[in-house]
Amino acid sequence: MPNCRFWSDQGPWLKTAWLGWAELAHASGVLAAGGVRTLRAMPSFTQLLEERPVLLADGATGTNYQDMGIAPGVAPEEWVFSDPANVAELHRRFVESGSDLVLTCTFGATSLRLADGPLAGRGVELNRGAAELAREAVGEGVLVAGSIGPTGHLSDPLGPLTRELAVATFAEQARSLAEGGVDLLVIETFFSLDEGLWAVEAVQSMSDLPLVVSYSFDQGTRTMMGLRPAEVVEAFAPLGVVAVGANCGKSLADTDLIVDELLGAAADLPLWVKPNAGVPRIVGDTVVYDADPATHAAHLASYAAKGARVVGGCCGSTPAHIAAVAAALAR
Ligand SMILES: [Zn+2]
Repeated sequence: MPNCRFWSDQGPWLKTAWLGWAELAHASGVLAAGGVRTLRAMPSFTQLLEERPVLLADGATGTNYQDMGIAPGVAPEEWVFSDPANVAELHRRFVESGSDLVLTCTFGATSLRLADGPLAGRGVELNRGAAELAREAVGEGVLVAGSIGPTGHLSDPLGPLTRELAVATFAEQARSLAEGGVDLLVIETFFSLDEGLWAVEAVQSMSDLPLVVSYSFDQGTRTMMGLRPAEVVEAFAPLGVVAVGANCGKSLADTDLIVDELLGAAADLPLWVKPNAGVPRIVGDTVVYDADPATHAAHLASYAAKGARVVGGCCGSTPAHIAAVAAALAR
């Protein structure tokens, strides 16, 4: 599992219906959950960004599930149905380590990406269920971020992904995550400009939740499709997103350079950084990441000191890594 990228139509009436519900929930300070209205004492993601110098996100999903015994070849999303106790347990471990927010186990949960696997046709149920599971696991004091990963298909003309297909699948995922009660949505580990723009268009057509856009610069300081950090900022900063950033990627030394370029380009737009715990190596039959918690924490604390506003980890980062970041941030 060198990179989490490889793990594996709605009409206007729906938009109106959803936005009406969301606006009502935010305005009144309550959110419907499972048909029961629950008082939300937790500030929103944007309020927290204003109140605190830095927020601590969680770490990896897939590589921690490997440590917890997920069978080879099983997609992390399958655990939402087959092993929800383990999914909830990892969310709780990150909260105990200091995370202010956790990401749902829905990185690969667009219907388009699920189409050829065992969860084909279950996208709506999966995204709603994963969001509700995360919320139940972390309680009301921690934010739940809905993870939206790429479809796994290249954009036209290099591949079969068209704007219409992309917007339909991302809109469905965003709506399902919102219905499940997430506090924000995170488009993460993207590499192509087209697919990212289509995902933002889809999410914003369906939800007014805070939206973060995070790319994976895993070719040195560029994405697989050659995008540079500053180009990502230039493309997404004007679109009303609440943060831009980088996740996954390759080495922490590369992330050092990526963070500098993002910060130089982002002006006042908050920066989100969730890198891998260093470079993966194959040792025996397992993948080992070379950054121990102290090393990971030293890099992440330096990003926060430079101005990054949300820090955490991606592949290879365990609850111990997040606890080390929390300590390095003196939390
Ligand atoms: Zn990753």
